[in-house]
Amino acid sequence: MRVEFRFCPACGSRLEPREVEGRALPTCPSCEFVAWPDPKVAVAVVAHDRRGRLLLIRRGTPPAKGEWALPGGYVDATESPSVAARRECLEETRLDLRVEGLTGVHHVLVEGGGLLVLAYAGELLGDRPEPTAEAPEFGFFDPGSIPELGFSAHREAVAAWRAGRA
Ligand SMILES: [Zn+2]
Repeated sequence: MRVEFRFCPACGSRLEPREVEGRALPTCPSCEFVAWPDPKVAVAVVAHDRRGRLLLIRRGTPPAKGEWALPGGYVDATESPSVAARRECLEETRLDLRVEGLTGVHHVLVEGGGLLVLAYAGELLGDRPEPTAEAPEFGFFDPGSIPELGFSAHREAVAAWRAGRA
């Protein structure tokens, strides 16, 4: 969910719509603040085991609750995205990850804004994921038999990963 600023986060003045570079944006009449509609940044982890099987989680929380997905989540402003990929994998599956590299950048339009999903491939260090609230169920899948995923960016990321291995 996107937060709409009504007051300036820098000085507290009420924001007013003003035309900036051809479009109306909430701007501060007292300082230089402009509420640019920046995308949020997330990571998705194309995590495989030593046998080359892909680890998927069944999501325990919305959005796409109950559907298959890659481990992943939002990037903190103070961490590198590859660190975020490793952290999210660990948080959701309790498995550490050796990040191999970026497989793609996927842009998604979501309600009220945009999302950039940075997809990383990596090898799992361990083969026994533990269920968490975010990921109560897991599956290891051969690249040729991957089930339908709940997010378009994840479908694109898996397709890019499979193309890279072919
Ligand atoms: Zn201000």
